[in-house]
Amino acid sequence: MMHIRDELAKIIGEDKVTLKDYRDSLDLETRAIEEVEFKETIAAYPRSDNDIIKIVRFANEHKISVIPFGGGTGLMGGASAIKPSIIIDMKYFNDIEIYKEDLVAKVGAGVILEELIDKAKKEGLLFAHDPWSVSYATIAGAIATDGLGFLAAGYGSMGEQVLGLDAILPTSEKLSIIPSRKSYANPLHLFIGTEGIFGIISSAFVKLYPLPEYESVHIFEFNNFEEGYNAVLRLLRYVKPVSLDLSSVYNVDNEGKVKEWLQEEEGTRLYLTFHGSREEVEYYHKKSKELLDAKELDKKIANDYWNNRHQLAEYYLDFIKSERRKGIKFEFLHVSIPRSKVLEFSNICNSIAKRYKIDIIEESIWHFPEFFSISLMTSNENANERMLYAIDEILSLASNMGAFEYCHGIGMKLSKYVRKEDKDVLRKIKYAIDPNNIMNPGKII
Ligand SMILES: Cc1cc2nc3c(=O)[nH]c(=O)nc-3n(C[C@H](O)[C@H](O)[C@H](O)COP(=O)(O)OP(=O)(O)OC[C@H]3O[C@@H](n4cnc5c(N)ncnc54)[C@H](O)[C@@H]3O)c2cc1C
Repeated sequence: MMHIRDELAKIIGEDKVTLKDYRDSLDLETRAIEEVEFKETIAAYPRSDNDIIKIVRFANEHKISVIPFGGGTGLMGGASAIKPSIIIDMKYFNDIEIYKEDLVAKVGAGVILEELIDKAKKEGLLFAHDPWSVSYATIAGAIATDGLGFLAAGYGSMGEQVLGLDAILPTSEKLSIIPSRKSYANPLHLFIGTEGIFGIISSAFVKLYPLPEYESVHIFEFNNFEEGYNAVLRLLRYVKPVSLDLSSVYNVDNEGKVKEWLQEEEGTRLYLTFHGSREEVEYYHKKSKELLDAKELDKKIANDYWNNRHQLAEYYLDFIKSERRKGIKFEFLHVSIPRSKVLEFSNICNSIAKRYKIDIIEESIWHFPEFFSISLMTSNENANERMLYAIDEILSLASNMGAFEYCHGIGMKLSKYVRKEDKDVLRKIKYAIDPNNIMNPGKII
C-alpha cells in the first residue's frame, strides 16, 4: 500500500493522501459485521471534483477499489474495505450555499447535517432531514443510505430532499444533474440509497422549507403495542404529524430480571410532533385526543423528549464503546411490510425470539405504519448463534413481505437478503458503468 500511496501522492499532492488505516475509524461498522476481515486502506482527501476524477482514473489504472466515506456512522458496513482500498474521505467538501428565494441549498458532500440545519435556520428556513446521528453524519452519506430522520412523517426521507447533484462516475466522468422539483428520465435515483456503488457524490442540491410558524409535541400512553398501533391507524386518516414514533419498551428479560442498563421507561408511548400555523396545530392536537382516546402525558415531558431527541445517539455510542457491551449482543431491525400484516409480524417475531431465548426490548413504528422496528438483545455470551438465527428468520420473512431494511441501507451486512432478481439487474447496471468494479465493491450486490 505504501507504493500506491506514493504514486497517488504524485498525482494529487502529498498533503492529500495518507496511509491512514480506516479500520479504527469504523468502530461501529466493524462491530456490526464482526465476522468480516477488514483490509488495509489508504486515505485520500480530495479538495475538488478534479482531485476525485484523478483518484478514480488512478484506481482504474491500478485496479484498486475506492470507497466514498462521509461521517463513518453507517451501520451496514457500506464504507468498510473488504479489499485493500483507497478511502475517499469527503470532509473538505464542506461548502453551503443557500438560495433563499428558491428554497434550495447547494451543499458539499461532506457537510455534517447539523451544520446545514443551523445555517438554514439562521435564514428562517428548515432543512428537514434530522436523524439521531445529525451531529456526525454527512449529506452524501445520508443520500447514499436514503436515511430517515425525526421529521420524515411530514417531509420524507433524505432521498426525497434531493433535487440534483454532482457526482464522479466509476469511469471518472463527471455527471451534473440540474436541480428541479420534477425529475424526468435522469439518473438522480442512481445515487439515492445505493451506498456509493455507482459513483461519488461531490455536492447536492436539497430542498429547504420556510420554518414552521408553530411546532407542538405530544405524548400519549397506551396499554400495549397492539392498542397503540390500531390508534395510529385511526389517527392517520385525519391528522398529519411531521413526526410519529410509537414505541413499546420492555425492560424485563427472559429470566425476569429488569435490565439495569436500559434507560428508557417500560410501556407503550406515541410521540407526535405537528408543524403549521397555530390554528392548524391546535386542530391536530384536539383531533388526536379525540381519535386516540388515550392518556396524554404532561407537556413538559413531551418538550423534554423533543429537545433531547438526539441524545439517545450519544448514549448508544457510549454504550457500544463501553465495557458494558462486552457479552451483550444487540440488534435493531427495521423492516417495511404492509400495514395489514404488522401486528401478525410482531407476533411472529415474538415467537421466534422466544424459541431462540432472545429478548425483545423494543417494538416500534417510525413515521409510517409500514415501518416496523424491533430491538433484540441477549446478555448471554453463549447465545450469539441463536441471536443470528433469530435475526435471519425475521429478515428472511420480511424480505418476502416487503423490505428487510427501511433506513440504514444494505452495505455488506444485509446483502444476502437482496432478492436475486434485483441483484441481477443492479449488477448489469453496475458492470456497464464500472467495468473494473472499482467503486465500493462487495456492497449491496
Ligand atoms: C448512533 C447512531 C444513530 C443513527 N441514527 C440514524 C437515524 O436516525 N436515521 C438514519 O437513517 N440513520 C441513522 N444512523 C445511521 C447513519 O447515521 C446513517 O446511515 C447516515 O446516513 C450515514 O451517513 P455518514 O455520513 O456517516 O456515511 P458513511 O457511514 O460514511 O457512509 C455510508 C454509506 O454512504 C456512502 N457514501 C458516503 N459518502 C458518499 C459520497 N460522497 N458519495 C457516494 N456515497 C457515499 C459510503 O460509501 C457508505 O456506503 C445512525 C447511526 C448511529 C451510529
